[in-house]
Amino acid sequence: MRKKIVAGNWKMNLDYQQGLSLFSEIVNMVKDEVVGTQQVIVCSPAIHLSSIAQLAKPVANVAVGAQNIHQAESGAFTGEISASQVKSVGAEYVILGHSERRAYFGETDALLCQKVDVTLKNGLFPIFCIGETQQERESGAYFEVIKSQLAAGVFHLSKEEFSKVILAYEPVWAIGTGLTASPAQAQEVHAYIREQVAAQYDAETAEQTSILYGGSCNPSNAADLFSQADIDGGLIGGASLKSRDFLDIIKTFN
Ligand code: 13P
Repeated sequence: MRKKIVAGNWKMNLDYQQGLSLFSEIVNMVKDEVVGTQQVIVCSPAIHLSSIAQLAKPVANVAVGAQNIHQAESGAFTGEISASQVKSVGAEYVILGHSERRAYFGETDALLCQKVDVTLKNGLFPIFCIGETQQERESGAYFEVIKSQLAAGVFHLSKEEFSKVILAYEPVWAIGTGLTASPAQAQEVHAYIREQVAAQYDAETAEQTSILYGGSCNPSNAADLFSQADIDGGLIGGASLKSRDFLDIIKTFN
């Protein structure tokens, strides 16, 4: 059985104390309640990571991750953070390929491919995001976009390496807009993603791959989305900043 996962992406929100308070609340609420959801992940800004990783340590099924890493192992890259540094504070995951990084920071498929490699090499799990823009959806090109993002970003991996990757389908038009893909729209793409994984690797690998939905996921729509056959949880932006909303989404699996 593949893992059911609810991951929060705090993006560039919350100062240090606010982040610690929110994470403490999440841990306290989740520790007795994670039943259906097998993994809760919070991807915070780098400044919180070390402290929240300590808070997460005693709680089974709660882990933390970064939102980005640099593709080099180390060196003269002022302002950047490496995978080994992220690993050294106890984080386990890294979001890669988020549409905001692709759009605002010029991250290309080729760069993301390097970031995926350095992430895995350092024993971290990538949460690899893919998704089409509104224009690509309207033109009907979305399957092609998904296919090429997968091919360029993660399909160079061996089967064993790929087994450590979590995929997240995040239609760009649904991120932070209040527009959500309908359960049927999301399921259609998730099923397509799983087919692509099966074609690249094999049916068993596809069956084991967790594919999360992201894009205005909230307590009101999570149940319908997560009940779809190929949706294994969510990557939550805005609603992960409120402990009650985030917990309600987590509880959707129960
Ligand atoms: P929202 O949930 O705020 O739409 O953000 C989704 C997202 O980008 C998660 O990575």
